[in-house]
This record gives sequence, C-alpha cells and structure tokens, in this order.
Amino acid sequence: MRVWRRRDRMIQIKTPDEIALMREAGLITQRALAAMREAVRPGITTGELDRIAEDSIRSEGAVPSFLGYRGFTGTICASINDEVVHGIPSRKRKLREGDIISLDCGAIFQGWHGDSAITLGVGAIRPEHRRLVDVTEQALWAGLAAAVPGGRLTDISAAVEGSVRSHPHHYGIVDHYGGHGIGTEMHQDPHVLNHGRAGRGPRLVPGLALAVEPMVTLGGSDTRELPDGWTVVTTDGSYAAHWEHTVAITEDGPWVTTAEDGGFARLAELGVKVAQRA
Ligand code: MG
Ligand code: MG
Repeated sequence: MRVWRRRDRMIQIKTPDEIALMREAGLITQRALAAMREAVRPGITTGELDRIAEDSIRSEGAVPSFLGYRGFTGTICASINDEVVHGIPSRKRKLREGDIISLDCGAIFQGWHGDSAITLGVGAIRPEHRRLVDVTEQALWAGLAAAVPGGRLTDISAAVEGSVRSHPHHYGIVDHYGGHGIGTEMHQDPHVLNHGRAGRGPRLVPGLALAVEPMVTLGGSDTRELPDGWTVVTTDGSYAAHWEHTVAITEDGPWVTTAEDGGFARLAELGVKVAQRA
C-alpha cells in the first residue's frame, strides 16, 4: 500500500491484492448482516442479534471490528427508530412490531476491514417509514455509483444529497456524521460528507476504499448523543434510516466489497459499467 500525505490528511492507497483481502472482509461482514436480517422479528433483543453477528464473523476466522473500539461493547451498532447510529446492543432491548432498526457491522480479516449497515422494518411498518428506508438505500447506491476513477470525493457527497433531494418529501440529511476512508483501520481519511457540491476534494483513484453511509431522517438534520456516550438520536425525535457499504475504487469502476455481487446489479441499473467479479 501507499500512503498519501497531504496537509493533515493521510489517505491509504491499496494494491489489488490488498483490495482482494478487503473483499473477503466485506463478504464476511455481508454474511453477518444477512444472518441478522433472517433473525429480525418482534420480540428478539438487540443483544441476541449482536451474538448472531459475532458468531457469524468469528466462524469465518475474522474478528468483529466494533468490539472494543474506543470501549464499545458490541459487535454491532443497533439503532432503533429515532436512534440514528451507534446504538449499543443489549439483552434488555426487545424489537417491537413497527420499529425500524439500523444494524451496522464490521469485520477484520487478515488485517483488512469491511463496514456495512442496513435498515430493516420489524414486522409491518408505516408506509412513510418504508419510504424513508428506501430513500436512504437509494441515496447510498447513488453515492456508490459516483465512486468512479477520475472523479472527486465530493461527487459522492453530491450524489447522495441529490438522490435524497429528488423526492417530494423534505428529508433531513444528518449533519456531522458521514462516511470515511477504510483499509487497515476502520476509520481513515478522508471524511465522506453526505451533502455538498460535486467536484471537490481528493481525486478518486484506483486503490482508494471508502465507506459510504447516508443517514436520513423524516424531520431535521440535528442530532444529540445520549448519556450512554454512544447512541446518536435525532433532536426532533423523527425516525432515521442508515445504510452503508464499503466500496473500492478500481480501474474497472466501483467494487462494493460488502455487497454479495460486488454491487454489479444495482450499479448496472444506475448505468455504471462495472466488471462482474467474484
Ligand atoms: Mg458502519
Ligand atoms: Mg462506517
């Protein structure tokens, strides 16, 4: 790997072999999320989901990246309804019919990271909550579709914002939180904003890997942290959704390392040419 140092920023550029290891970490992360998706139902606790994710990750010879991160006690972040991100899993917190839950998860395989989040409805959910979840997922894919070699970092930010703003309802885009570089650490430079003008920031070059993660609300963009020191909630109590994938920029276009098919199908729908890979 190479490291670019520019002012205070350090951007890690990976070799194709290193990206291949990130793909392994990404698939392990994806399978942990798939196992939790199967298990989500009214009555299950976020602590039980956490155990499912940890067992899945460890069974593949990988390590949960969140566990112990700055003292975090979970393998996953489980954030329900007005909780945006960083909810702490607990054996006391039961899911209820009508909840929406963001499950965020990361794995380390041979030193390389994957980071991905999904938002799911628990049983039947209200139509406006379903739309919020779908709008946020669409914004994620719009951002990933902009992760093409030759572009600039904020092309991704502008694509996320443009996608959210393309809907008649005015959704909030959460301030102060966003995506990040990823590689041998979960959080690296650069920060990836979920809003802003295109055409600025570092050039998107092959070997750069980013976590793109829009956080969208049915209300405003302000958040606060709960006294537990982790859980981020919307200030106005509105429901929030959060989706995330890790994407590697390659000569052949974006490679979504945490998507089962590498992002091939969704990116093709958006008109982005990508090579179909394992
Ligand atoms: Mg994450
Ligand atoms: Mg992340």
